[in-house]
Amino acid sequence: MIPAAVLFDAGNTLVFLDYGRLAAAVGSRMGLPLTESGLRQHAAEAARAMEQGRLTDRERGAAFLLTLFERAGVPADRTEELKAALLELHQRAHLWGATEPGTGDALARLKRAGVRLAVVSNSDGRAATALAAGGLLDEFEFVIDSGEVGVEKPDPRIFQIALDRLGVSAAEALYVGDLYEVDVVGARAAGLDVVLLDPAGAHAGRDVRTVRSVTELVDGLLAARAA
Ligand SMILES: [Mg+2]
Repeated sequence: MIPAAVLFDAGNTLVFLDYGRLAAAVGSRMGLPLTESGLRQHAAEAARAMEQGRLTDRERGAAFLLTLFERAGVPADRTEELKAALLELHQRAHLWGATEPGTGDALARLKRAGVRLAVVSNSDGRAATALAAGGLLDEFEFVIDSGEVGVEKPDPRIFQIALDRLGVSAAEALYVGDLYEVDVVGARAAGLDVVLLDPAGAHAGRDVRTVRSVTELVDGLLAARAA
């Protein structure tokens, strides 16, 4: 059965780091040979490192970036310089403004099928800005941002805020995110079915349904509905 509503995580689910821009800007500023592919190939590893420890999502976002650049070749003793470079870039344009090809079209198809769409994000109040930068904001009815509502995943209350606003029960909704400890654990605690976005296949064998992309998820949902 197709869900009445699908709620999405934002970072590393709908919007991604703009690896090309980051590699060029940080590389030239720090005099290091950073490349887009060099950053991209360490993303899954950095995401896993981020799941360890009890961090807030804000700390987790910073840990993700620092781990990513360290693995890609930024020496540990230049971390402060790296932080300053990233902060300056982020202030100029949101670092998380890149999207996967096909995501916007997939969301539009889901919406045309009558499915309600919203975002539940742990962020700093700028999740909507990142979604707008990626051209996806208009596909959603609203964005719940932990920085605005004061409660963050995996706390089930942040999911309930979105369900209440939609007027949809947890049993009728699906959540889609990329972090097991944050997205899967939190959505389940709120009573939602959940799918883990796992582009690299790093979570195969875990007790959760995975998809490689938002497009794969939507294709599956619409095929199940047609059957
Ligand atoms: Mg995420």
